[in-house]
Amino acid sequence: MARIFADIVRKVRDGECLNRDELISLLDLPPDAPESFQIMAEANRVSKELTGNRAEIHAQFALNLGPCAKDCQFCSFAACHGIFDRATELTADQAVTQARRFEAEGANAIFVMTTAAWPLAAILEIAAELRRQLLPTTPLVANVGDQTAAGARRLREAGFAGVYHALRLREGIDTRLSPEERRRSIRYFQEAGLQVGTCVEPIGPEHSNEELAEMIQFTATIGPVFSGAARRIAIPGTSLARHGMISEMRMAQIVAVTRLGVPRSVAGNCTHEPCTLGAAAGANLFWAEAGANPRDTRERTEEGRGTNVAECCRLFGEAGWQCLEGPSQFYRT
Ligand code: SF4
Repeated sequence: MARIFADIVRKVRDGECLNRDELISLLDLPPDAPESFQIMAEANRVSKELTGNRAEIHAQFALNLGPCAKDCQFCSFAACHGIFDRATELTADQAVTQARRFEAEGANAIFVMTTAAWPLAAILEIAAELRRQLLPTTPLVANVGDQTAAGARRLREAGFAGVYHALRLREGIDTRLSPEERRRSIRYFQEAGLQVGTCVEPIGPEHSNEELAEMIQFTATIGPVFSGAARRIAIPGTSLARHGMISEMRMAQIVAVTRLGVPRSVAGNCTHEPCTLGAAAGANLFWAEAGANPRDTRERTEEGRGTNVAECCRLFGEAGWQCLEGPSQFYRT
């Protein structure tokens, strides 16, 4: 292993991207092995070099809350879990108030999230109002369900700079969504001129290193503005909570390996939920959250699991990062 590891470190220093077997051999290491720390240090160095040591904080809020028929087994909105049985939605004014609050707090991009089947027309209507009220330089990002090519173009025309869209681990097995439709939507978004951010998620203890390596490579192939890795939160009342959670240390290891499996043309490397270990292992993007959150059982995640912009920035500071001021350099308006 010593020789293989030395070759991997040499490839990383030469700016090369790691292949599937190399990714698996790094993921196979115990998270607290000396070699894992060395990999985290390399990923941290690469992430800082690519961004001039400026980490980003994007802020997300949900436009609606309610039972979702896609039944993702890790999600508190899934109808099958019965955690939220009442459907609510924000008015355009409420959405503007929340978005402007995030903007004033220093978020580098504003994300709006909806459940999978929330109508596109409603998203577009609120987006138009948000676009009128936010600074023209603040990127607006959609975290919404799968779209047709025409739907993707309408999101772009409404003023979204990009989307967050992921092919989740065991998509189609732990969810009622079609993996092919997820991939197709990503293509449509990019063809419409929307920049795509993505992630290897939601990682649980049951996922093999082969699955993780293949998903890291998938994220690399789509040419996103950021990739990264996020662990699954064991939300009480959700089916996959029985598997428990990976540790922050293991997540930090996967965040670092993801950085080294994605080309340097991809500057962003996210993790969620925000933590110092992730930032020390090469994450340069965290999310602040407010309102409904699929990883929380409270209707207002700021009273639960959600982290605010200032706290995200403090966590980055603990890991030696400075926080970017102004609009995102990942999503460019
Ligand atoms: S993750 Fe999205 S698509 Fe899946 S159940 Fe939750 S809201 Fe619906």
